[in-house]
Amino acid sequence: MNANTDSTAELRELYRELILDHARSPRNFGKLDGTTHRAEGINPLCGDKLKLYLCIDDEGRISDAAFEGSGCAISVASASLLTERVIGLDLDAALGIADSIVGSLTGRPGDEDAPDLGKLIALQGVREFPSRVKCATLAWHAMDAAIRQRGESVSTE
Ligand code: ZN
Repeated sequence: MNANTDSTAELRELYRELILDHARSPRNFGKLDGTTHRAEGINPLCGDKLKLYLCIDDEGRISDAAFEGSGCAISVASASLLTERVIGLDLDAALGIADSIVGSLTGRPGDEDAPDLGKLIALQGVREFPSRVKCATLAWHAMDAAIRQRGESVSTE
């Protein structure tokens, strides 16, 4: 037993609840009127496919976000959590969170100025299932591509 036992169990429980909740009833699911930026994400390993839509206003703020597509519970829940979190953020803040999420899921050492992830920290529960990490990062890669307008499609492979 070590001092982390409780928080690990809590994280696991939070992860399970969040994924189930958002996979069952995804937030901001569907097309988005007035989309200014979009990208498609594909994870061939699992068969996850999603389209991410953003409305970015003149001040460089994400005024709305939505997604559609199909995939496993983790990919859908992660996209749902993403849209919920980034609406209202400016682009730097949204990119910072995406970078921090992808970093924390892929085991990149955290950086001291990393933004507060709030409940998104629960996504780290996926690290127990290494083959599913790409399901969880897919939407965040797609958002990064959409904001940077690197073209229409990103693939985890
Ligand atoms: Zn998946």
